[in-house]
Order: sequence, then C-alpha cells, then structure tokens
Amino acid sequence: MPKKPKNRTANLQLMQNLNINLVLDVIRNNSPISQAEISRVTRLSPGTITNLIKILKKNNFVRETGFGQSSGGRRPVLLSLNPEARYVMAATFFADEITVALLNLLGDIKKEVKVAAEVEKGETRVFENFVRAADSLLDALHLDKKNILGLGASFEGIFDSGEGMLILSNRFGWRNVPVRDLLKKSYGLKTFVEGDGRAMALGEYHYGAGKAVTNMVCIDMDSGIGSAAVLNGSVYHGAFSMEGEIGHIQAVSDGPKCRCGKRGCLETVASGSALIARVRRALENGEKFKGLHLKNSLPEHLLAKAIFQAAQEDEGVLGMVEEIGCHLGLAVANVINYSDPELVVLTGYMIHESGELLSNIIEEVAREQLVAGASRKVRIEKGVLGDNAALIGAASLVYQDFFPYL
Ligand SMILES: [Zn+2]
Repeated sequence: MPKKPKNRTANLQLMQNLNINLVLDVIRNNSPISQAEISRVTRLSPGTITNLIKILKKNNFVRETGFGQSSGGRRPVLLSLNPEARYVMAATFFADEITVALLNLLGDIKKEVKVAAEVEKGETRVFENFVRAADSLLDALHLDKKNILGLGASFEGIFDSGEGMLILSNRFGWRNVPVRDLLKKSYGLKTFVEGDGRAMALGEYHYGAGKAVTNMVCIDMDSGIGSAAVLNGSVYHGAFSMEGEIGHIQAVSDGPKCRCGKRGCLETVASGSALIARVRRALENGEKFKGLHLKNSLPEHLLAKAIFQAAQEDEGVLGMVEEIGCHLGLAVANVINYSDPELVVLTGYMIHESGELLSNIIEEVAREQLVAGASRKVRIEKGVLGDNAALIGAASLVYQDFFPYL
C-alpha cells in the first residue's frame, strides 16, 4: 500500500481549520442558524458541516439555542455562537495612560483597566505596567491565558505594523522600538499591533460607523490630526507605512512651526492643541470671552469642551472655532477628492466634545469643495465608538486572525 504523503495530513488539517473558521464566521453573523442553512451558505456538504459543528460544540464555541420553522419534517435545531467561549485582550498605549480590556467574541468590552504608562521611568516600566493591568483583568474575570485568543495593541506614533515597530513617537520619546516582540515576550499571547489612528479606523469600520461600508477613511481630530483608510477590511499602510499623515499637509504658507519641523502644517492651525493655544493667547492678551476660563489643571479634551461651550454664547470664540472648522473641512474635501471613499468618519475629542458644532462646519465646507459636489454620495459622519474606537480596533486585529472572513 502506498504511504500517505506527510503533507497531505497537514493539508487536511489546514483545510479543516479554514472550514471551521468559515462555519464559525457564518454562525457568528447569522445566529441563530440551522445546519442546513450553514451548508447552503458555505457550500460545504451536510456531512462536513455535521463534523465541524461537533468540533465547535465540543470546544464550547457553538450551542443549540432553539428550533427553526419546519419545512415539512422535524423542526431544525438552531445554532448560535457562544460569545463567551473565548476572549480577546486589547490594549491602547498612550504616553500618559495604558488601557487594557477583555472583549468577548462579539466585540463587547467585558471589563477594562487603566494604568499610568510612566513613560518617564523607561521602556521596561511601561511594559511592566501593562502586564500588571493585564493580570489584574484576568484575575477579576477569573480567566486564564488559555481562554484568550490573542492580544491586539495600539500605540500612538508613527508605526510600522508589518515589522511591529513603533518607528517614532515624540510623546513616548521612543524610536524604533519592536513593541510587538516586547509584548509577546512580556505576556506570551499571540500578538498583533497597529498605530492608534489605524486602530481607530478599524474599530469604526468593523464595529462602528463603518459597519455597512466597503471602504472608508477615518480622520482623528485630537491634539494631533491623523487619518487612516480601510479598504475591504484592511487598513492601507502605504509603501513605507507613512500613509495618513494628513496633519502634516500644509494648511497655511509660512505658518507656525510644527513638531515635525516644517511650518504651517494642518496640526499647527486646526488641532485641539492649536485651538487651546490660540484661545489662551487671546486670554493672556486681555481679550474677554463670555463664560470662558481655561483652568490649567484640566486635561486637553475638557479645555476644548469649555471652548466649544463658550462658542455657543460668544461670537469671538465661535469665530475661532469656525476658522478651525474651515481648515478641517478643506482637508476632508482634499481626502475625498483624492480617494473617493464611501464614508468619512470624523472622530477624536475635537469632534466628540463639540456636539454637532464642529462636524457641521466641517461637512458644510467640505461639500462646497467637492468636485461634482451636488452628485457626490459620500457620507461624512461622526464616529460612534468615541474613546473606545482604538481599543475595539486593536481587538479587531485578533478577530481578523480568528474570523478571517470578518
Ligand atoms: Zn507637521
């Protein structure tokens, strides 16, 4: 009898894995669903489906949750994904704070912990703080690492996700730090990493404002400004991982000096930091605005919130906000004219702390500048995940690995 080639067994196992992921994906997106329906959608034979469901049930991924309509014979058993079968760990690393969370298989955050990053105490301390937070989360939910499918993490700064490398982060003061390897070494989970703007875009794409679209651009308007494009479920990185540096397109010639070394970048005139600095300068010069006092102790997003509130009552403040909105609206128009997305998602504290004020100005200005403006179907919307966008996006890096058809 001829010997079975070794790699044939491996291929069969691989095929079973791919088919299992496919079946699990179909159940996840269509729960509750019958075996016959799964067979129809996946085009796998009923016998194959029976075997795969057996494995999924044994591993607690799938459970029976009722009966469907009878088409003459017995009523079919309906199957649903058990969202608590496994968990995903997600972490966002910002220079002031690390957030670590556990999410179930449907993207719901079960619990999160925030700890100071303590960047000033060095790289090792940052990762120790992460491990402490991650351990405390597992303890709180009585879970073990074997319950966790993997870790998805995002970092602020210029990021090479192929290499898992934080290339440059002024806020961390880090250059070329192999964060994926360091996280893997420090916690032992299968690890995926991405820049924070791209993680936000992925979060909104899979679980937020972009759920029903194929391609979109997400623009983050915070103390800095960045953008990320998602096409068919994947973030576009550019040839050298530098895609999306929209904050550094020139908005005014010979304008203020930017942290990147150039002058007049969009960030220097239209970011949250720029707005706050501008209002502060005006206050220091003795200008008075109705109801506006900027307390030094407040974090940036709350200072911005106070400015947006004052803009409702004071023409002078409103004028400054409108000017920023014009710069941002032009940038959004440039993005749309260049890349023709279905949807532009606006996110970041500038958007979320300003109610509808800033997003309305941005949309109005952008639409005026669009080529063939009246006939353009592009939607411009606020993100729906708020502060959780990066965290959920980081988790989606793990889901994408586990549910390849996400
Ligand atoms: Zn710049």
